[in-house]
Amino acid sequence: RDDLAPLVIIGTGLAGYHLAKEFRKLDQTTPVTLITADNGTSYSKPLLSASLAHGKTPAQLASSSAETVAAELNVDILTHTQVTEIHRTQQTVGLVSHSGSIRAELRYSRLVFATGASCSALPAIEGDGHTNLFRINSLDDYGRFRTALANRKRVLLIGAGLIGCEFANDLIQAGYEVDVVDVQPWPLATLLPEAAGRDIQRALEAAGARFHFGSGVSRLVRKGRGVVAQLQDGRKIEADIALAALGLTPNTGLAAAAGLTVNRGIVTDRALRTSDSNIFALGDCAEVDGHNLYFVAPLTQSARALAQTLSGTDTAVHYGCLPVAVKTTLRPTTVCPPPADSEGQWQVREHPDGVSARFHGPDGQLLGFALTGNAITERDQLVSACRPLMD
Ligand code: FAD
Repeated sequence: RDDLAPLVIIGTGLAGYHLAKEFRKLDQTTPVTLITADNGTSYSKPLLSASLAHGKTPAQLASSSAETVAAELNVDILTHTQVTEIHRTQQTVGLVSHSGSIRAELRYSRLVFATGASCSALPAIEGDGHTNLFRINSLDDYGRFRTALANRKRVLLIGAGLIGCEFANDLIQAGYEVDVVDVQPWPLATLLPEAAGRDIQRALEAAGARFHFGSGVSRLVRKGRGVVAQLQDGRKIEADIALAALGLTPNTGLAAAAGLTVNRGIVTDRALRTSDSNIFALGDCAEVDGHNLYFVAPLTQSARALAQTLSGTDTAVHYGCLPVAVKTTLRPTTVCPPPADSEGQWQVREHPDGVSARFHGPDGQLLGFALTGNAITERDQLVSACRPLMD
C-alpha cells in the first residue's frame, strides 16, 4: 500500500461527507481526497421532499459549499470531476473533468465508493411530454424542478411510494393541485399493509390530493405549456408538470467495470469491505451483508464503523431495527419495513386516530412495523421488541 497516497472517497453525498467527518475525528493527518461529479455542495437530501412546507428555496437547502467543507475537514475535494475507471493493481483512479478537457490519474492508498444511486429507469411512456417530466435525486434536480414549477398549479406525481407521497404532502400544503398515479393498489404499498396506506391516503385526500391506483402512465403528451397523461386503463389526467418518483438503482457500473463483486449494490461484508480488501463502499450504492438500504440511518452507522476500520481498528457495522419517519406531515407515519423477502404476515389494529401494524415471522418474532397517526407513540416500544436487521 502506498501510504503517501490519499484515502480517496468517490462521492460527496451524505455518505461521502459523513465518512470524511467521522474519519477526521479519529485521524487528523492522513491525506483525504473526495471526488464528485457535481459541485460538492453539502445539503440534507431528505429536505428535498419537505422544503416547500419549510418555505425553503433550493439555494437555502445548501448548507455548505465544497470549499467550506474542504477547509473545515482539511481534505481536498475535486468537484465537477467524474471517476471513469479504476486500476486496482496500480491503485489509481482515472478522472475526467466536467468539460471533458482534462484527464488525470490519482493514486489512492484506500478507496471508498460513496457513489449513491440513480433514479430507476422509467417504464415505457410514449409521447412528447417528457420535457415536462422531472425526476429528483439531487439538489440540482430539485433546482430544475422548482424553476419549472414557477407559475404552475397542477402537478402529476407518478409513483405513490415513500418519496412520491412526501412530495404530494409537501405540494398540496403549498397550494398545488396534486394527482398521484400508481400501478399499486394503495400508497406505499411495498412498505405498508393496506389499512396503514389507506389511512395516509385519506389524510392527503382530505387536503385535496387525488389518487389514481391500479394503472400506470402509458402516454404523456404536451398540451399547451402542460401535459396530458393517459393511463393504461384509458383514464386521462391533465397537469402543468409531472414528477416521477419510481425508486432508485444503485450506481455500481464503475465498481463492476473494475471487477468488484456487484449484486443489486456493490457487495460488502459488515466491515464495508468489497471483494478487494483495499476498497470499501457505503450509502445508497452499497449492499452491506445482503442489505440494500436507501436511508440516512444505515449510512451514518456505516460511516462511523468504516472510519474506525480506515484508522486502524477493524470494525463491523451493526444495523439494529431502523425505523424511518415518513415526512407525510398530514398523517405522521413511521415504518420499519421487514427485511426483503421475509416470511410472515401483518397484524393490523385500527385505532380511532391511527393504525398500528406489526409484521411477525412464522416463529412469532416481530420483524417490522408500521404506525400512523397517534399510533406513532408506540415507536420506541416496538423498536426494542423488533429483531435487529443484523444479529
Ligand atoms: P448521493 O447523495 O446520491 O451521493 C452520490 C455522490 O456520488 C454524489 O456526490 C455524486 O456526484 C457522486 N458520484 C457518483 N458517481 C460518481 C463518479 N463516477 N464520479 C464522481 N462522483 C460520482 N432518507 C431518510 O433516512 N429519511 C428521509 O426522510 C429521506 N428522505 C428522502 C427524500 C428524497 C427526496 C430522497 C431523494 C431521498 C431521501 N432519503 C431519505 C434517502 C437519503 O437521502 C439517501 O439514502 C442518502 O442521501 C444517500 O446518500 P449517498 O451519499 O449514498 O448518495
